[in-house]
Amino acid sequence: MTDYKPSASDQLAILAGKLSATTIRLLGAGMGSNLPGRFARKLSAHILSDLSSQPKLGSIAVTGTNGKSTTSGLLSSILRTAGYRIVHNRQGANLVTGITASLVDAADWQGRIEAEFGLYEIDEAALPVVAKEIKINTVLVTNLFRDQLDRFGELDTTAKLIAKGIEQNDSTAILNSDDPNVCQLKKEGKKLHYGIESLDSCQSEPDELAELSYCTKCGAEIAYTSTVYGQLGKWHCSNCDYKRPSPDVYASDVVSLAATSQFTLHYGDAEIAIHLTMPGLFNVYNALAASAAALSLGVSIDGVQDGLKEYTTLFGRSERIHLNGKSVIIQLIKNPAGATQTARAVSKDTNATVLVAINDNLADGRDISWLWDADFEALAAMSAHFIVSGQRADDMAVRLKYAGIDVTKIKTVTPLEKALTTALADTTATQTLWVMPTYTCLLELEKIIKKYGVTLGGT
Ligand SMILES: [Zn+2]
Repeated sequence: MTDYKPSASDQLAILAGKLSATTIRLLGAGMGSNLPGRFARKLSAHILSDLSSQPKLGSIAVTGTNGKSTTSGLLSSILRTAGYRIVHNRQGANLVTGITASLVDAADWQGRIEAEFGLYEIDEAALPVVAKEIKINTVLVTNLFRDQLDRFGELDTTAKLIAKGIEQNDSTAILNSDDPNVCQLKKEGKKLHYGIESLDSCQSEPDELAELSYCTKCGAEIAYTSTVYGQLGKWHCSNCDYKRPSPDVYASDVVSLAATSQFTLHYGDAEIAIHLTMPGLFNVYNALAASAAALSLGVSIDGVQDGLKEYTTLFGRSERIHLNGKSVIIQLIKNPAGATQTARAVSKDTNATVLVAINDNLADGRDISWLWDADFEALAAMSAHFIVSGQRADDMAVRLKYAGIDVTKIKTVTPLEKALTTALADTTATQTLWVMPTYTCLLELEKIIKKYGVTLGGT
């Protein structure tokens, strides 16, 4: 039992937050609304720090460009499987108001939260703000890629914000060794590094030049002895002694197939085989990051293996569903690095149909030039049929054409519902339909597939 006694203003804030959340739910106004959080914060300035201080073993933040939702979902699964109770903003409301809303929702009417850990997915730029109100014990950083160009501007600015957020509470940092933008975010003190040590010899990843990045010590260009993807790999500064730190938690013999991945997880002298029902090297990193955080919190390596097995995929992140008896996998795409990894995972499925749905609403990023930075060329070797949809269906059709895909294999069907019907008709019972939507296409898709009687997980 927590010994928290709400102040009068906290009591009012909880009441207003819970009532407005219920009203929003009844009106069907959608998931992850920030409004209850905003009300609660108006009524009590310390509501977030009061509620978040209750989990007995502390708070964990997950931040970075890609993989925040999947990584926090995986970590939540590991911790729950190990017997801990978690409060988690799992709907992806990752700004200060959304996190407040999640905590108000998790609390009872007296504002009590019975949990061992608070687990929060936090927007990179919001971390220092949230860290002022939540005493974050552990900060996990996934990676720092160039995101939608119009969002934060420089990567350096984002890195500084994260470093500031870590410094605020002198949090233990769980950092990606393989990302030169991430591994240095905490220089001194408690930290744990994770990384990919080796790919399986049969794993053929296309040889590519790493994305350009620069040494945070001297500004010289970063060089690589091997790359995984993007700027991730075994790197060193071309000028000074700055180099990839050896990871404390690492994966070896990584194999990434069309719908699954496997690797050996190492920590100290212990090692264990991990099988994921998720495709792509990006999901290997997500699982590795979650494992590193769990191990640093005292979960055993067997516990990590069990928790990863329990994990069921989140809303729109490599989720496999069945529509009209056809197998469908949906993978959200939102930036070049993620889209490249998805395209490569899809390209390994030689028996597939592909639907790409692109919108350019604010939540998708207005500027769709990132489509040209993603490796859709990986899809060119497939014999698949392609359907393009969404507000920018025509642009996507052009992009696929330039990727080397025969135009006779590309259908443009702008309305998403009709595009899905077409794609399902083009998919045989033994094939898989891969759907790659941007964020607002994913939201629309969620409504459409409800008409098929299917609800995506995590909603
Ligand atoms: Zn250097």
